[in-house]
Amino acid sequence: MSSDARRAEYLRTIGIDLWMPRTGAVRGAAVRCAEASPRAQPGPAGDEEAWQRLRAEVLGCTRCALHQSRTQAVLGVGPTRCDWMVIGEAPGAEEDRRGEPFVGRAGKLLDAMLRAIGLSREANVYIANILKSRPPGNRDPLPEEVQACLPYLHRQIELVQPRLLLAVGRIAAQNLLGTDEPLGKLRGRVHRFGERNVPLVVTYHPAYLLRSPADKRKAWEDLKFARAALPRSLTG
Ligand code: SF4
Repeated sequence: MSSDARRAEYLRTIGIDLWMPRTGAVRGAAVRCAEASPRAQPGPAGDEEAWQRLRAEVLGCTRCALHQSRTQAVLGVGPTRCDWMVIGEAPGAEEDRRGEPFVGRAGKLLDAMLRAIGLSREANVYIANILKSRPPGNRDPLPEEVQACLPYLHRQIELVQPRLLLAVGRIAAQNLLGTDEPLGKLRGRVHRFGERNVPLVVTYHPAYLLRSPADKRKAWEDLKFARAALPRSLTG
């Protein structure tokens, strides 16, 4: 199957139909898989040790009360150095049980969306949450929990060195950007995050898209916008 046909299949999976002429070229999808397939390289040798230290610290962390109710802390998944980093709010029940972010139905939808632009957690996108421990009953993170946990995310960003951050969902976007603006106003803009001023683009959380499939097309527009925001001169 050609990469265009594969992408059309992924798009159909996420609920976006595209017209395909007999030549196999996809109309209406401006992003080519090959263009979006960015670098994923191992970091310097010392990074492995830094990752091990960070993982041990997070798994044993007691900085906030969430350590009392979690099954396990969830650090992140993906190549330890790559261009794209997806950031959600916190682990849910399934993530807490399995120790990996974005698993279950929402995770599958996120994977399909990412594959539509040539990304996968196995190859070229790192996925993490702001909070590493699950809030009971999946309630929203408290400000003091975010404050306690954010240094871990900053450390992950230092190590991964992403060229683009994709914040998924209102909670992640508002906490990362320190704003109360609604998600609708945060979409479609390139924000900046942290000391490295990493470009940050906002889109919907896949769990929301499962409840509101009519917005999947907007999420697809966000992904294309994010791809275009990745600095072209740095795509390597
Ligand atoms: S949420 Fe973060 S700060 Fe709180 S216990 Fe878990 S790892 Fe530590």
